Amino acid sequence: MPARKIFLLPGDGIGPETTAEVTKIMDWMNASLSSGFEVESGLVGGAAYDEHGEAVSDADMEKALAADAVLFGAVGGPKWDDVPYEKRPEAGLLRLRKDLALFANLRPAICYPALADSSSLRKDVVEGLDILIVRELTGGVYFGEPKTITDIGNGQKRAIDTQVYDTYEIERISGVAFELARTRSNRVCSMEKRNVMKSGVLWNEVVSQTHKANYSDVELTHMLADAGGMQLVRWPKQFDVIVTDNLFGDMLSDVAAMLTGSLGMLPSASLGAPDGVTGKRKAMYEPVHGSAPDIAGQGIANPIAMIASFAMMLRYSFEMIDEANAVEKAIANVLDKGIRTGDIWTEGAQKVSTAEMGDAVLAEVQALLG
Ligand code: NAD
Repeated sequence: MPARKIFLLPGDGIGPETTAEVTKIMDWMNASLSSGFEVESGLVGGAAYDEHGEAVSDADMEKALAADAVLFGAVGGPKWDDVPYEKRPEAGLLRLRKDLALFANLRPAICYPALADSSSLRKDVVEGLDILIVRELTGGVYFGEPKTITDIGNGQKRAIDTQVYDTYEIERISGVAFELARTRSNRVCSMEKRNVMKSGVLWNEVVSQTHKANYSDVELTHMLADAGGMQLVRWPKQFDVIVTDNLFGDMLSDVAAMLTGSLGMLPSASLGAPDGVTGKRKAMYEPVHGSAPDIAGQGIANPIAMIASFAMMLRYSFEMIDEANAVEKAIANVLDKGIRTGDIWTEGAQKVSTAEMGDAVLAEVQALLG
């Protein structure tokens, strides 16, 4: 079997603590299942700044480009508050996303039955929820030009951001959404604001054309993004895959994420275009949460978001579907047993450390795959 090359970037704060729990699972899979993971580690964020004076070095960037997948912990912390803007820890994350050309951001919102009580919504609304938001990540209003603030006299200023989308950008992101829907419940809902935005008119048109040309087996619906926000909190289980632009995706994925309870539970994946020769996509997997400086070094962080990001890597970069399912099932089993880190702890549950949570998930993975 060819080696599966993983570039591991633990980063700062709780990053090294949570990635260590994934390493335990990878080591066991290599030893017991001959999974063939070749893991190399690098530095990113404040850790890279301290060592190299950059948020990610050119040498590590090359390793990220050469890897089959990048597994990223978290970056940032008060220690680096005063470093120059272009060298701040987050600049490392932005460079990785940009240089790997990761245009598709995948954020699942899964509500584990055992945690349905921790949602701010009614239990019957969220229990068993499993949706996937596909957000366009490299275009739209965050990057469009002109992007300016100008003095227009009389004590007034004018701020301009520009929402720009070209056909190819909408085609490729909707293609990712349709392909992912085929591996799930085969339904895509596209969200934009075609009633007030030209980019919404084009978005709607191109998604429909892409659907008709290549994915007519998938059920496609369209919804205005504001109505989509309402529906997400009213009855989120009506959705399977949602595809939307950078700005709406930023907001809607945060709304969807919070349906599920804690920040320590949320994984993500970012994918690039398929390579012309190998057909493999560049990919980076990371939890949604940051470096949590308030709890770093205490061994109490929840490693589940990181472990679930690893499960996404198994699924999307290595097509190890059985193993991905097993890791996700292992997380659900551990939660069913009432094992909890502090952030998701409730009365009567067993409170465990980061390492104990990692060990509990590994034990379930071993039982399911061993
Ligand atoms: P954060 O996500 O780090 O923390 C927010 C709160 O959630 C904190 O109270 C933290 O203790 C808690 N939390 C987060 N992850 C947790 C986990 N796995 N287990 C238990 N509790 C968890 O966000 P923040 O405090 O706004 O930012 C802290 C630093 O992280 C900043 O420097 C910020 O720039 C950076 N950041 C990095 C990323 C990233 O690396 N992708 C994302 C967001 C923020």
